[in-house]
Amino acid sequence: MTETTEFKAWRVEEVDGGYAGSEKTLQLSDLPDNEVLIKVTHSSLNYKDALSASGNKGVTREFPHTPGIDAAGEVVEASAGPLKAGDPVLVTGYDLGMNTDGGFGEYIRVPAAWCVPMPSGWNARTAMIYGTAGLTAGLCVKKLLSMGAEPEQGKVVVSGASGAVGSVAVEILGRLGFDVVAVSGKAEHAENLKELGASEVLGRDTFDATKKPMLKPIFANGIDTVGGSPLAEMLKQIIPGGSVACCGLVAGPQLETTVLPFILRGNNLLGVDSVEIPLAEKQLVWGRLAGDWACPVTEASARDIGRGDLDDALSAFLKGMSSGKIVLDHSL
Ligand code: NDP
Repeated sequence: MTETTEFKAWRVEEVDGGYAGSEKTLQLSDLPDNEVLIKVTHSSLNYKDALSASGNKGVTREFPHTPGIDAAGEVVEASAGPLKAGDPVLVTGYDLGMNTDGGFGEYIRVPAAWCVPMPSGWNARTAMIYGTAGLTAGLCVKKLLSMGAEPEQGKVVVSGASGAVGSVAVEILGRLGFDVVAVSGKAEHAENLKELGASEVLGRDTFDATKKPMLKPIFANGIDTVGGSPLAEMLKQIIPGGSVACCGLVAGPQLETTVLPFILRGNNLLGVDSVEIPLAEKQLVWGRLAGDWACPVTEASARDIGRGDLDDALSAFLKGMSSGKIVLDHSL
């Protein structure tokens, strides 16, 4: 049993009808009664954390709450499962940071079935550079490959390319030899996207809404991280037989499309969820990210922040102004 009973957490609570986050001191007994107690050294910032921190009830129903859908650190004690005290571990998704206190606290207590042993060669910081966003990018690539996507088929387009999911997707695809077209609203990030592996960077106007039901097919395959009307427009520009993996909704949850891309060009729309999928599937993609899908440019450019910087970093997400990977280091 650990002798620590107090720890720090960045806690969101209702204040004057709004929501605000600040550092609080909690007791281990405040954590839910689960099987594995983990000392969290690092977490990762995600769009969903920004939603939770701003009081979005679709993500977090009850406050006060500690966000952080990703966490990495060391097992302190485990009453079930294969892990034991001292094992390095990472947790992403399921209910972590939603309605179970998450990685923005120095400790979490979670079910054993949520815990992934740290992939060999990684430490907690490396795992959190990727975090849920990296896992999601890996799952999108995996889905495209499972549909037979190959570099020889032509260009693969990635929307929201400067974001946390998009940037990792660009780098993995580039390293796999794909001709990657990055679509980004941030002209100033064009060079970074090329460094990640994009051969071309286009503005968001590439997917401006049109009234046309179909457009000239330009891209062999795509990864869409934004949803809404840009996804509908991407689907109109995919060559016969090509696929789009979709995972996000920053441009809106609605998808207004026709069946034409599906019935005239045989296109496939592939949904990607990184949260509730079986642990074994997560583990497989973590293994690839720590191996042949590693993203050295992303790893080298990640930014570390402390709990005191969370407010600013999370609001940038909500404004669509976030870029690259941000790691929360509890020692800062
Ligand atoms: P980020 O905020 O890091 O990136 C999103 C990017 O989308 C922005 O950087 C921006 O890129 C672009 N963007 C923002 N607003 C708009 C807009 N209104 N219209 C078009 N493009 C826009 O978020 P993440 O990469 O972490 O997440 C992306 C999406 O994926 C989110 O919706 C998130 O909830 C979802 N997600 C889903 C998961 C799943 O399991 N299905 C897991 C993880 C994330 P640029 O300026 O380059 O265009």
